[in-house]
Amino acid sequence: MALDVPERRAVLVSDFDGTLARPDFYHLVRQHLVPPGTPNFWDAYRVGKMTHFDALRSFFEAAEGGEAALRGILDMIEMPAQLADHLERLRAVGWDVLLVSAGCSWYIDILLARAGVNLPCHANPGRIHDGRLIMERPTASEYCCHETGIDKAAVVQGLLQQGRKVAFAGDGFPDFEAARLVASDLRFARSDLTIACRKADVPYRPFEDWSEVAAALLEEPA
Ligand SMILES: [Mg+2]
Repeated sequence: MALDVPERRAVLVSDFDGTLARPDFYHLVRQHLVPPGTPNFWDAYRVGKMTHFDALRSFFEAAEGGEAALRGILDMIEMPAQLADHLERLRAVGWDVLLVSAGCSWYIDILLARAGVNLPCHANPGRIHDGRLIMERPTASEYCCHETGIDKAAVVQGLLQQGRKVAFAGDGFPDFEAARLVASDLRFARSDLTIACRKADVPYRPFEDWSEVAAALLEEPA
């Protein structure tokens, strides 16, 4: 997928799971496909013995049921209604959308295709091998990092350094470092990201549905 964002246009950098797509692919996989008795890899993550990337990768690899079951999970995920229309209207007023995700492009690509949209996306590559979802670090990406695979803050920083106007939308603790880089009126948060922002005294605009972010940016000169 092309990662080019046309020069000089404003960019909404958006997280995918829990922000654009609801609920998180990971949450559904853990709930429905990861067998009981699987270690809670987040325990190792919390004490610094495992990276966020490796914890997530381990849960995905533990999921049973093969590709059919993994694709079945995608049927439980909702994308914003009229997403293509939102994107078209944003483009018309000068805003492009760039996705950043610590998740896996295997399911992101399928969900975007189902929604009938084509968006540039920085995420971790993945494939199905022997019925398991194998997520890999994006070693070819200039934004590759050991901790989460994709360094969202580096993506935002790069765009800001090009002199672009940048908005950010996210819902998780790992979104905080990227979110804090943008202007407060262009920082959109829900769920855990609001907790992280409040804790650090960083102002944000709350949202529930991604379409609220799109509507807010339509009012914002690009
Ligand atoms: Mg998220």
